[in-house]
Amino acid sequence: MVATLLSIFSLFNRNMADPRAERTFLAVKPDGVQRGLVGEIISRFEKRGYKLGSRQIRLVVEPVKILIFFLQPSKDLLHNHYAELSSKPFFPGLIEYMSSGPVFAMVWEGTDVVSVGRKMLGATNPRESPIGTIRGDFAIDVGRNICHGSDSVGTAEREIALWFTPDEVVSYGLAQKKWIYE
Ligand code: ADP
Repeated sequence: MVATLLSIFSLFNRNMADPRAERTFLAVKPDGVQRGLVGEIISRFEKRGYKLGSRQIRLVVEPVKILIFFLQPSKDLLHNHYAELSSKPFFPGLIEYMSSGPVFAMVWEGTDVVSVGRKMLGATNPRESPIGTIRGDFAIDVGRNICHGSDSVGTAEREIALWFTPDEVVSYGLAQKKWIYE
């Protein structure tokens, strides 16, 4: 009886959100998608130990309904996403660039994933981004910096809610968790 209760509790516990875990919104921008860097960027986050927590099934390619992980963001969505930058001179170009092709949008989860994720992406301007960061290794111009990552926990919550419906953010236990976290 006790064993049954314990196993039920541990099952429940495994599925509960880790109190140390954060979520961030990450997107491979149209240039990153066109340059074939989706796998590289996912791989870096996976190898670091972070957990992918999203699926995107919105794009429907006619005549067959294909479920894939891309979406071509509307200008409305991008105006909302980049609202804070709307007065910047580069804003119109940013909206054109970001709406020019499919974006690979993701939610990643793990301890300090927002700040660590930003470090993994590097500086906004790739030429000022250290070698070893994603932008520092793969990009040159600030207007073609291949990926986006939320800049704070609050921004991440806002961006995840903007790009995903709650049922598109998947909750599951990571089998290798005990080998990543002490
Ligand atoms: P980050 O994406 O690093 O959080 P910002 O929020 O400041 O940076 O800017 C959003 C995006 O706008 C950048 O990733 C980049 O694509 C674009 N951007 C920023 N500054 C410039 C600029 N001076 N010229 C062209 N595009 C820019």
